[in-house]
Amino acid sequence: MKRLQWYSYETDEVERRLKTDLNAGLTSEQIEEAKDRWGSNELPESKKTPAFLKFLHHFNDVLIYILLAAAVLTVTLGHYVDTIVILIVVVINALIGYIQENKAEKALEGIKNMLSLQATVIRNGERKEIASSELVPGDLVLLAPGDKIPADLRLITTDHLSIEESPLTGESTSVEKDADTLSEDTTLGDRLNMAFSGTAVVSGSGRGIVVETGTNTELGQINQSIAEVEEIETPLLRQIAEFGRMIAFVIIGIAALLFVYGLLFHDYEWGELLLYVISLTVSAIPEGLPAILSIILALGVQVMAKNNAIMRTLPSVETLGAVTVICSDKTGTLTKNEMTVQSVVLKDRIYEVTGTGYAPEGEIKFEGKPADVEQDQALRRFLTNVRSINDTTLRKAEDGQWQISGEPTEGCLVTLAEKANREIEPLEMIAKLPFDSAHKYMAGLVEEEAGKVIYVKGAPDKLFDMAGLEEGSEERQYWEEQLVNRSRRGERVIGAAVKQVEDSVTEIDHHDVAAGLTIIGLAGIMDPPREEAVEAVKVCRRAGIQVKMITGDHKETALAIAKQMGLTERDRVVEGREIDRMSDQELKAIVEDVDVFARTSPENKLQLVKALQKNGEVCAMTGDGVNDAPALKRADIGVAMGVKGTEVAKEASEMVLVDDNFKTIVNAVKEGRRVYDNLKKTILFILPTNGAEAFLIISALLIGIDMPLTPIQVLYVNMVTAVTVSFALAFEKLEAGAMQRPPRSPDAKLLSGYYVFRILLMSVLIGGAIMVMNVTLLGDTAQYTAEQVNTITLHSIVIAQVFHVFNVRNERQFAFNKDFFSNKIAFGLAGLLVLLQVGITYTPFLSDIFGLYPIEAEYWLYPFLIGIIGFIVIEIEKFITRKISQAHSNRKAVS
Ligand code: ATP
Repeated sequence: MKRLQWYSYETDEVERRLKTDLNAGLTSEQIEEAKDRWGSNELPESKKTPAFLKFLHHFNDVLIYILLAAAVLTVTLGHYVDTIVILIVVVINALIGYIQENKAEKALEGIKNMLSLQATVIRNGERKEIASSELVPGDLVLLAPGDKIPADLRLITTDHLSIEESPLTGESTSVEKDADTLSEDTTLGDRLNMAFSGTAVVSGSGRGIVVETGTNTELGQINQSIAEVEEIETPLLRQIAEFGRMIAFVIIGIAALLFVYGLLFHDYEWGELLLYVISLTVSAIPEGLPAILSIILALGVQVMAKNNAIMRTLPSVETLGAVTVICSDKTGTLTKNEMTVQSVVLKDRIYEVTGTGYAPEGEIKFEGKPADVEQDQALRRFLTNVRSINDTTLRKAEDGQWQISGEPTEGCLVTLAEKANREIEPLEMIAKLPFDSAHKYMAGLVEEEAGKVIYVKGAPDKLFDMAGLEEGSEERQYWEEQLVNRSRRGERVIGAAVKQVEDSVTEIDHHDVAAGLTIIGLAGIMDPPREEAVEAVKVCRRAGIQVKMITGDHKETALAIAKQMGLTERDRVVEGREIDRMSDQELKAIVEDVDVFARTSPENKLQLVKALQKNGEVCAMTGDGVNDAPALKRADIGVAMGVKGTEVAKEASEMVLVDDNFKTIVNAVKEGRRVYDNLKKTILFILPTNGAEAFLIISALLIGIDMPLTPIQVLYVNMVTAVTVSFALAFEKLEAGAMQRPPRSPDAKLLSGYYVFRILLMSVLIGGAIMVMNVTLLGDTAQYTAEQVNTITLHSIVIAQVFHVFNVRNERQFAFNKDFFSNKIAFGLAGLLVLLQVGITYTPFLSDIFGLYPIEAEYWLYPFLIGIIGFIVIEIEKFITRKISQAHSNRKAVS
């Protein structure tokens, strides 16, 4: 089918062909009809790797190879049951890995759906936000900076609209668009009156009519999926994988040495010795560990999503726990973003404004009396200015609440104009310069009764410069004083200015307003801090996390709010233009001593992230605009706003806040710490099982006694402890005091010296105790048979781990603390494990498989005794370590 060349049609031709309306968009019936005809605006999912390949992938691991080799050896020895059990373990492992990977992928996919692309449209004459998948040909779409283009559009109006088309053309420079009709032979890259699906608005604004959707778009035609690959492997999982490889080599080395030793110094048979070596090998491999770790991470992502923080990648969950600095926007994140104009300042008078919120209920008062805009020309002009240079609309919702559609800063100005005693008619903008946070103003060309003028509204200090007010001049002093007065109260101030132009002017650009403005007034806007953010700032300070405010607002406003929130005690504020002048070295030195950065541009954010990172900080940075994307990408944790954030900002981030709230970041950091702690605890818990088993087998071989545990038994112990009690650690609460500690060092090793010590201690302790018991009981041949001793040995390791999990639940503090009963799952799983032990011992079929003997009830005393001894020794060790580290930190504090 020949594709229509929409770019070569005049806009009214497009309107006619698609039966739409260039002002009001489609009607509800038309939308239904078009939906039936064209389907939903989506691209088909990209091809996935087949399930069996994914499954097989989980066998590709050195440790699995070793297990498979062990399986082959057991076949040659004729120990088929061992072979089957080893193979079952290998398959179960791959299965868990596979299911886990699938779950993680699903979770990330679900998250992607939550972040589904939105589009702003006009339908039935009303502006609305809808999911992009709902778009149909003929829809009228509004474009703003940071928007992803949701379908192929024929542009009908543009205001300095510039679009980055690299997904389509590979060129990363942006293209300035316009709405002029083009000839039929225009190539794709030159179709300036088209906006293509998958590309993004860099700056400016515009309107376009959807002409192609789904697979009919250019992107759909080249069949490129925009879905990106998310990382699933985390630094910690990578470290574990490396650790696994290291273990593999050590095991093979030790196994070979022992084999030779056994042959030379003891009279073991070949087969027996081989079985010994196989036992040793499988005992030392922590089979369940990787699966458990990824389950903990995935559970963490789910908890975060429930708490409004959507993680876009799994590794960030770990990084979050190490965050040392949070750089946050002010407006809407630290503050409520519920703006109310409180005062209006004109050249010779100050008005007070009553009422709160967006409801146009209240008055503009001068000296206690309502002002009359009929007579007060200056006020009327000011209100007309801020009302006209405005893209936001105000309306009363069905529930009686007043709502805005657009920017709060602009919405409150609409409300302000509505509070005037006569209606303020907005003037039509013939041309406009949209607001962006780099320029900090918005301008529009309008026609007043006396002729054409440019209205500008924006950051007052910016306007003062554009008005050419000389430093020290009386006029400048007046305005500056008013600005500082309002700002010191924490008010955000917006200025309005005007410039006369020739009637022939039809377009405007930034250089048209760079000079010659006349300031007409200021509006002081209140945006109160969020109470919960004040709390969250406190939490950060206790947790050794710095909070820095990085705002586009005025420095006095920023400082006043920062002080109100307890974010800083320091008076120093650094402005964006100062940062621009600093060298990297200077910025690096200063960034630690300043908490508030004002009048910043998005580039400043990037500079600040870099400077902080050079100081070794792990930095979370918030952002919403398209220009914030580089800083968000660079930050260790880029945090995009879910509500007011642009699509481009979300894509550049690791985390998206559903509620744009600072508190959510802090909660996520807290959860990050919990997840990381629990990952570490799991390792601390699981490895001693392997250590104790290996210790037992090696020492038995060295002494020259019978093998204390068979390969099947070793595998059983490893798997059963991993899937029961160790799983309980995933549900462990954050330890008391964990948010009073400074963040962990980002390059801290997974296995710290202390951890290695603890793991070795527990391994030797349990392994040693069981060995002593073993030798003693075996010596008492009148009382105990070898089978009984073997059964007691197996139970001893498992029961010791049941007790051990209660040591590990709290890494350093006393096990019996006030949180002892908080993790009910731990008790449930511990009980379950004991039941399982009883089950496999006394169920004939199972006891046969595992080679167990139904021991007399009193023999259970030994396992419990060993468990209790292990538990007590580790608690004593924790106590001593606490004392030592206290003494250490006291000494540090003194010196
Ligand atoms: P933050 O980075 O904390 O979110 P912000 O929202 O105050 O800060 P910007 O949105 O970049 O930062 O605004 C910077 C300044 O630009 C404001 O202080 C205000 O004076 C002005 N400004 C904000 N919004 C508009 C607007 N829609 N039109 C004109 N001027 C605006």
